[in-house]
Amino acid sequence: MALKLFNTLSRSIQEFAPLDPAGKKVGMYCCGPTVYDFAHIGNWRTFVFADLVRRYLEFKGYSVTHVMNITDVEDKIIKRVRETKTPLREFTQQYEAAFLEDLKTLNCVLPHQMPHATQHIPQIVALIEKLVARGIAYKAADGSVYFSIEKYRGCGCTYGRLLKLNFDEMRVGERVASDEYAKESVADFALWKARTPDDGDVFWPSPWGEGRPGWHIECSAMSMKILGPTFDLHLGGEDLIFPHHEDEIAQSEGATGQPFVKHWLHGAFLLVEGKKMSKSLGNFFTLRDLLAKGFTGREIRYLLLTAHYRETFNFTLDGLQGARAALGRIDECLGKLKEIVEPLTRPSATLSPPGGEKDREKGASKLIPNSTAALDDDLNISAAWAIVFEWVREMNRRLAESSLSADEAAAALTAWEKVDSVLGVGGKSEIEIPAEINSLLEARQAARKAKDFKKSDRLRDELKVKGWTIEDTPKGPKLKKI
Ligand SMILES: [Zn+2]
Repeated sequence: MALKLFNTLSRSIQEFAPLDPAGKKVGMYCCGPTVYDFAHIGNWRTFVFADLVRRYLEFKGYSVTHVMNITDVEDKIIKRVRETKTPLREFTQQYEAAFLEDLKTLNCVLPHQMPHATQHIPQIVALIEKLVARGIAYKAADGSVYFSIEKYRGCGCTYGRLLKLNFDEMRVGERVASDEYAKESVADFALWKARTPDDGDVFWPSPWGEGRPGWHIECSAMSMKILGPTFDLHLGGEDLIFPHHEDEIAQSEGATGQPFVKHWLHGAFLLVEGKKMSKSLGNFFTLRDLLAKGFTGREIRYLLLTAHYRETFNFTLDGLQGARAALGRIDECLGKLKEIVEPLTRPSATLSPPGGEKDREKGASKLIPNSTAALDDDLNISAAWAIVFEWVREMNRRLAESSLSADEAAAALTAWEKVDSVLGVGGKSEIEIPAEINSLLEARQAARKAKDFKKSDRLRDELKVKGWTIEDTPKGPKLKKI
């Protein structure tokens, strides 16, 4: 079945078809973090969503090039560099390292490329030169270079492709210097910002004098450098639609005369405890704040992935408790399946006879086809989770009635692993047995074999002290954590 996604550009659900004539390669760009602080949970919703898209495309067999930029120079960063009196690179580096660590905590697959704005100044300057040469950008009296919305529209291009804008109030040539502005203030925006005393040491030479790039042009330059003038997917939070993504389209298409992106995907907003996140309300959380409360990256990832990406999601601490319980149900089921497949110590001859293809089908159930169908439908993740838990119930029922063969259980685990390659919540099915415990068990088995029951009892007690019990089953001894 084909994957269908909502395209913000057409405001409709469309079948996803890559530009690659072979239908294999997919170029995907997601606006990355502005490294001026720790990313908050709202930011993380977007990055986990991008991770889901990447993983699902790979699951569908596409060969994805996932690019996520690191914005390491823009207004907010400059302000903080000034306030903290730290050199730019030193300042951004600490938050970039924290970001990458958090990305790992949430089990997000690392993007293939993470370009930095400060390392792409020549490409940014070249792109602005193109716009100037085409008459769409101009140098203003303040020494900065601006994008002319009037000239762009005059070429027959549409500014405001992702959202309807009202140009009636717009005054031609009115300019906005800051990177962020409201849609009521549509105006010519800065591509290159002339150096000011506030910039301190943060500036580069350019044909228009010393200065630094605007935020929007950074993404246009880096995405097109890596993925080409036209690519398949561009993602970001819905708060980036205006002005950031509108400006990216205008700059890119204005310079190349070619369509910039085929599918635009936007993740919806996140509320925390029913309200917009704010430090004054006490509902502002970074990932680290939640880890400090005792939650795990896995639980946070699960919760962020429970709602459809286009729905506003209410993130709550109660929800995290629920996530813990839900994952516990999955873990318990996986643990039991694993026990059937691989009793912790077992001679291989005790495995039940292979049941063949039919058994494998029964064990796999409809987990893969049903969750694929759900995700093909504009990444309907809540439906996919419902299928996962239906499968958990089915497996538990069959486990309870002991009607699952080792082959069926193995097939069930393989199916889960395949689905989890998309969900990325893992499974604590792998109960790790420390080497020390394993050798105690082996010694106990040897003692039993030698009929030295005093020794075997002593070893069993020793294991108990260390938190493990032995269950002697017809299939051999099994270790269980107390
Ligand atoms: Zn961007």
